[in-house]
Amino acid sequence: MGARILDGRALAAQLRAELATQVAAFRDESGYAPALVVVRVGNDPASVSYAKTIDKSFREAGFGCRLELLPDDATVAQLGAVLERLSADENVHGAIMQRPLPGHMDADAVMSKFPTAKDVEGVTALNMGKLMLNTGNYFPTATPSAAITLLKHAGIPLAGKHAVVAGRSNILGRPMALLLLHENATVTICHSRTRDLGEITRQGDILIAAVGKANLIKREMVKPGATVIDFGVNFPDGGKMRGDVDYEQVKAIAGAITPVPGGTGPVTTVMLMYNTLQAAKNQRSNGQ
Ligand code: NAP
Repeated sequence: MGARILDGRALAAQLRAELATQVAAFRDESGYAPALVVVRVGNDPASVSYAKTIDKSFREAGFGCRLELLPDDATVAQLGAVLERLSADENVHGAIMQRPLPGHMDADAVMSKFPTAKDVEGVTALNMGKLMLNTGNYFPTATPSAAITLLKHAGIPLAGKHAVVAGRSNILGRPMALLLLHENATVTICHSRTRDLGEITRQGDILIAAVGKANLIKREMVKPGATVIDFGVNFPDGGKMRGDVDYEQVKAIAGAITPVPGGTGPVTTVMLMYNTLQAAKNQRSNGQ
């Protein structure tokens, strides 16, 4: 029997419908829409396309959305000034810093200027630190929290399960491992120096692929019946979008699997919406 497909598009549509009621209630009470600003330096094609998707989705869901675009040769100081202005602007509730940044910009220096209260992607040091400490009252990193949402809506138990996370980047693997730990999974993190990746991934009741290598995870690397979450967005040889998991092979033995495209991506956008609405509520109750 083939794997159950964890359909991110269907879940995102359901969540957007629920969110629409909450956004309408917020607009009625406050008299304004929760608003997101996407900040970009230059015109990296994937970032341009992603910003268009975000803009369309947010507007359709009743949010405000606009772009702050800086030229390729902007300095960290110029970008910092924009971030400071957005931080002070009470009409802006959430903000996203698009990556990659141009090579001359130090990403850590930029993110240190990013307003934490508006960090709806959950990527600033303060939000990451709160995630680490599991203090509550923070924005969990958007893409990993989309995976947790998919797993929970599918009714897949996490407590006591062995979750193997392949990848340890700050935006995916690391926060994913922490979120799974907070759900009481037993977590193993793998990376490029891991010896015999397949030996370890085969132990996962839950397997998360966040490596950025098309079709790296093959059938023999997956435990039969495992739940497989694929974050990969790869375009090998400029062709069709592929995940990090060899989907056709793995879906034959997995218990459940996310497709690419149509898995974690659409749910991530909804997580950004939830966080933007929450940021607007927080700022309203703080009188900001
Ligand atoms: P990244 O920063 O390049 O990190 C990749 C991670 O994978 C690193 O920790 C690296 O190990 C590890 N790795 C690389 N090759 C490996 C191998 N052969 N065996 C084991 N581990 C290996 O990438 P990222 O930003 O996390 O993104 C990963 C993928 O997710 C990309 O395809 C990206 O486009 C996609 N993505 C998807 C979404 C979404 O919404 N679905 C959002 C963001 C990104 P080291 O740490 O040792 O280098």
